[in-house]
Amino acid sequence: MPIVTLENVSKAYPPTRAADAPVVAVDDVSLHVEKGDVFGIIGYSGAGKSTLVRLINALEPATGGRITVNGTDITALSERNLRRVRGGIGMIFQQFNLFAAKSVRANIAYPLKLAGWAKHDIDARVTELLAFVGLSDKARSYPEQLSGGQKQRVGIARALATRPAILLADEATSALDPQTTHEVLALLRRVNEEQGVTIVIITHEMDVIQTIATKVAVMDSGKIIEQGDVFEVFSNPQHPASQRFVGTVIKGIPSPSERALLQERHRGRIVTFSFRDGDSSQAQVFVDLAGAGLDFELIYGGINDIRGRAFGHLTLAIRGTDAAIDTVLTRIRAHVAVTEIAEGGVL
Ligand code: ADP
Repeated sequence: MPIVTLENVSKAYPPTRAADAPVVAVDDVSLHVEKGDVFGIIGYSGAGKSTLVRLINALEPATGGRITVNGTDITALSERNLRRVRGGIGMIFQQFNLFAAKSVRANIAYPLKLAGWAKHDIDARVTELLAFVGLSDKARSYPEQLSGGQKQRVGIARALATRPAILLADEATSALDPQTTHEVLALLRRVNEEQGVTIVIITHEMDVIQTIATKVAVMDSGKIIEQGDVFEVFSNPQHPASQRFVGTVIKGIPSPSERALLQERHRGRIVTFSFRDGDSSQAQVFVDLAGAGLDFELIYGGINDIRGRAFGHLTLAIRGTDAAIDTVLTRIRAHVAVTEIAEGGVL
């Protein structure tokens, strides 16, 4: 069941100078976030990700299209009703946005006070949240006494306080070091799996998507250029920008400069085979090459794991006549589902 739906959504900001064209920050975006998803939105700075979050969170109105959150069309709601929709969405930020003058306990209690909870209910809920994020011993501390990772855990506890169905994370780990990033992502995964909260995570870091997301949308210049199941997009990215993002984290694909080096160092045609789990046999590739009497050498490769599913890339230098190589490559493509990325016109 979709919990967030965007249909042909656009957001244009007025130009800074009257003579200029409007800035189209989000351009005809359609996407469906299903209940229980960890939905990653990746793009470079300026792609329109934060704007998209503000539209989903109803902090800004769209200039076109329709947005449905939790079954409610928010594009035509009054401010009072929008507040109710926002109450069903928790939000965490890159800079944590904690109240410096409030203790950890008071920070987490804040949204519950706003929502009018009774004091003993607030106390019980905050105690429960502190335990969940592993900060029971920091209840009386102040944000400045905490590490970045601890601050973000407070941010997560505060965002979850009123039991929202959706958590929006805007570059929530971008200010953290890699180790702390992984701890915070592990916590977000527990939020998703143990509490059933749907997470929309905005990032410019592909390893964040690889670690936690189940679905991904790639954004470029306000548009979603590719979206789908994380395994599908990582193992077979279609758009050049997606390929660049995937290339930052995926093992086994030689970069253009590595490829040039491989070609310099090895005789023969340099061919990269891409395997995904479910392919009948990667061993068959070697059987076919050997069966055709070709001489080959494994010169580059790597296997990747995306949420328990594997795919990988192996690069071989293959030596023989062009005709013999072409024949066997055609056969390989036909009977084991192999994607081939090759140099020198072998594709
Ligand atoms: P991202 O989060 O991917 O870095 P943003 O959503 O912040 O991208 O920005 C997308 C584009 O919209 C940028 O060109 C940015 O300058 C522009 N933009 C964002 N917010 C505003 C605003 N309030 N007024 C005018 N232009 C804006």
